[in-house]
Amino acid sequence: MKKALVCGAGGFIGSHMVKRLKKEGYWVRGVDLKYTEFAPTEADDFVIGDLREQRVCRSVVDESFEVIYQFAADMGGAGFVFTGENDADILHNSALINLNMVELANRLKIKKIFYSSSACIYPEHNQLDPDNPNCREDSAYPANPDSEYGWEKLFSERLYLAFHKNHGLAVRIARYHNIFGPEGSWNNGREKAPAALCRKVAETPDGGQIEIWGDGKQTRSFLYIDECIEATRRLVDSDCLGPLNIGSEEMVTLDQLATMIMQIAGKTLAIKHIPGPTGVRGRNSDNALYFEKIGWKVSKPLLDGLTQTYLWIKEQAERVGTAA
Ligand code: NAD
Repeated sequence: MKKALVCGAGGFIGSHMVKRLKKEGYWVRGVDLKYTEFAPTEADDFVIGDLREQRVCRSVVDESFEVIYQFAADMGGAGFVFTGENDADILHNSALINLNMVELANRLKIKKIFYSSSACIYPEHNQLDPDNPNCREDSAYPANPDSEYGWEKLFSERLYLAFHKNHGLAVRIARYHNIFGPEGSWNNGREKAPAALCRKVAETPDGGQIEIWGDGKQTRSFLYIDECIEATRRLVDSDCLGPLNIGSEEMVTLDQLATMIMQIAGKTLAIKHIPGPTGVRGRNSDNALYFEKIGWKVSKPLLDGLTQTYLWIKEQAERVGTAA
């Protein structure tokens, strides 16, 4: 039986990857600082441990693993990443995890290791025009990410690639663009825009008002979790190292995103724009290279995934008694 290790299996993408690998017949070990929050894990074995500690890394990895998925990171949405308040933790904690895992994977001759990088590595100067952001993979250098989160991701990409170059370690790297869906953070300060806006809409009575950070004209694209998992599995099974973008090309403004959620909810709400951490002005995935290398395209409309996500967040808000 094929065996996989999922680091960060208690988090959003990691927990969905565990489910997918189980469906494919893998024996899966998950490791995380915490258990999954919203549904029991489907991992065969789940270790609570801190991957900043080499001792913990050594205790969860052995030669029998076919593949390691490295999702563990100290991360969150704009409210966590762009305020500057968590920069030391973001750089230190995530870098340590990656330093430990890549060295161990190499030492134990693990066949493949997947690393989840981010669209946040792209230079700020290519993302100033909200209508024409440039996120082609080859535009990453000269580097100028707008956050320490992006710098750590870029450093770690280079770390994995250097282990490939010097030691032949098989690495696969994706640059994720705003992944969203059920069973992700929605109210703990680490939630990203789709979850935060779904929560605000679910918690506000029809005719009320929600707040959006910035002027609402900043653009982004958002990829539903099922497509992220599919795209990741295809990348891992391919011969392509990456880094490849995994994201949607359906770019919307934050105001448009909020309006779509209101439509799903059947509510009319006013939007109040307030100062807050927003990140770059514009960002959209560029999927040309992914299609060229992997021959597959994400295709689900944003509205579909957003509907699933809104319904799930509304249910969570009802459960904790904050739904309107
Ligand atoms: P998440 O926060 O839900 O999951 C990350 C998990 O890592 C958490 O469960 C956390 O407890 C765990 N973790 C943190 N520090 C750890 C440590 N020291 N030891 C063990 N576990 C630790 O985030 P996610 O959305 O599932 O993201 C997964 C990966 O994908 C991350 O590396 C993230 O940077 C990357 N990524 C995500 C997105 C997105 O839109 N969700 C976009 C770009 C990149």
